[in-house]
Amino acid sequence: MISDLELRQVSHALLVERGVQLLDIAELVLNLQNKYIPNLSVAECLENVQAVLEKREVQNAIITGIELDKLAEQDMLSQPLREILTSDQGLYGIDEILGLSIVNLYGSIGFTNYGYLDKTKPGIIKRLDSKVGQSCHTFLDDIVCAIAASAASRMAHNDPSKIAIVNQ
Ligand code: MG
Repeated sequence: MISDLELRQVSHALLVERGVQLLDIAELVLNLQNKYIPNLSVAECLENVQAVLEKREVQNAIITGIELDKLAEQDMLSQPLREILTSDQGLYGIDEILGLSIVNLYGSIGFTNYGYLDKTKPGIIKRLDSKVGQSCHTFLDDIVCAIAASAASRMAHNDPSKIAIVNQ
């Protein structure tokens, strides 16, 4: 069986290979939460992003989604899936479901934040969503939204006083 360490390293390396730094995700978390949590630092956000990435379920979602994006780019999927992924068809929905498999681990606050990030596409999400050349980020954008939403939720649920603030 693949070791925890190996899976963690591979999933992190895949994010970086696809142009996503953990700091990009931490900045999404900061923007989600800094209006609710006074003096929130990017370091605290980064810590929560790293904690989310420690979970095997999250690592599995990352390696699965990114693999499908890469296979679509390399023209290695059969039709109709290849076209669905390369054109990022809105009604496909399985990319969002994969993201939800991450958010599911972190409680209710994650769901609203996930929907908000998917809708408003700030920062790195916008970059991933803008198609450049042959790139396909159909799964990756949802994975990044989900990691950020989960980190925000984790932060809030770890401190009950923050839950009350965030839900206002
Ligand atoms: Mg998507």
